[in-house]
Amino acid sequence: MAGMRAMVVEAPRRPLVERQLPDPRPQAGEVLIRVHACAVCRTDLHIADGEIPLHKRPVVPGHQVVGVVEETAGRRFQVGDRIGVAWLAFADGVCRFCRDGLENLCEKGLFTGYDRDGGYAELVTADERFCYPLPSGYPYLSAAPLLCGGLIGFRAWRMAGPAERIGFYGFGSAAHIILQVARNGGQRVYAFVRSGDREAEQFALERGADWAGASLEPAPEPLDAAIIFASAGELVPAALRAVRPGGTVVCAGIHMSDIPSFPYSILWGECVLRSVANLTRQDAYDFLELAPTIPIETAVETHLLRDANLALDRLRSGAIHGSAVLTIA
Ligand SMILES: [Zn+2]
Ligand SMILES: [Zn+2]
Repeated sequence: MAGMRAMVVEAPRRPLVERQLPDPRPQAGEVLIRVHACAVCRTDLHIADGEIPLHKRPVVPGHQVVGVVEETAGRRFQVGDRIGVAWLAFADGVCRFCRDGLENLCEKGLFTGYDRDGGYAELVTADERFCYPLPSGYPYLSAAPLLCGGLIGFRAWRMAGPAERIGFYGFGSAAHIILQVARNGGQRVYAFVRSGDREAEQFALERGADWAGASLEPAPEPLDAAIIFASAGELVPAALRAVRPGGTVVCAGIHMSDIPSFPYSILWGECVLRSVANLTRQDAYDFLELAPTIPIETAVETHLLRDANLALDRLRSGAIHGSAVLTIA
C-alpha cells in the first residue's frame, strides 16, 4: 500500500515528522479532497509547541486547506469542485450555542487539524457541510490563507464594531488580509509590530496601513478599536491604553501568554475587552463572498509539504510577512 504523505504532530514540542499514512476514506456525508495547498496558522504552531493540549495524537495539522473533490460520499459537491476546509469541522446544530447562532462555541464542536486530521497531507476527508466553494478567480495559493487568517480575522473585525481608527497588534497573515477589509470600509489602520522590526513596519505600510510602529509604545492618536492578532499577553494592557473611552479590544488568537495585571483605569470608561473563538459557517460565507469584491490579495511565501517545520520555525521567529503556504500538489 502506497498511502499518502503527511506531516504529522506525534508529540508536542517535537518537530513534525513525515509519514506515509493510509489513504483516508470518506464516510457518509463526507468528501475526500486532494489537497493542493494548506496555509500555515499560528494555531498550528500552538498545537505543535504544546501550548494548547493535543486532542488526538498523532494528528495531521492544517486548517486552511484548499483542493479538489476527488470522491464524495455526500450530495453537496461534485468530483472536481474546488473547495476549502477551515477550522470548524463540526457543530451539532442542537446545543444552546448552535441554536443561538453561535456554532463557533458548540459544546460538541470539532476542529480541523486538531480533532480531525487536517491539510498537511496529500488527502483529507471533511464533512461536506463544513466545506466551502472557493471564490472564483483565486488560485489555490492565494485562497488558502483566506480560510483562517481571513475568516477568523473577519469575525474579529466584525466584533471590533464600527471604528474610524483601528489598531492591529501583530501584523501577520490575518492582519494583512483584514487590513484590506478595513481600508475598503474607510477605516484608518494602525499597525503595531514588535519593537525594532522595521521589516514588519515596512510590510504593513506597503500593504496600506496608515501608520506602523512598536506595539508597546503609545498609539499616535486614540483608537476606536484594536484587534490583537499576536499571542503576547502584554499586548492587552497596551491595546487598552491605546483605545478611547468606549473602545473595544478584541483578542483574536486561540492562545495567549498570561496577561499581566493592569490598572482598572485603562478598562474603565466602558472599554470592552473580549476574545473571539473559532468561526461560524456564516462568517465564512460572508467573508468568501466579500473577498473577491474588494478584491483581497494575499502575500504568500510557499514551502513544500516536507518543509513544514521550516515554515513553522519562520512563523515562530516572526520572519514571515504575509502568509506561509504549503504547496502539496
Ligand atoms: Zn487558524
Ligand atoms: Zn452545538
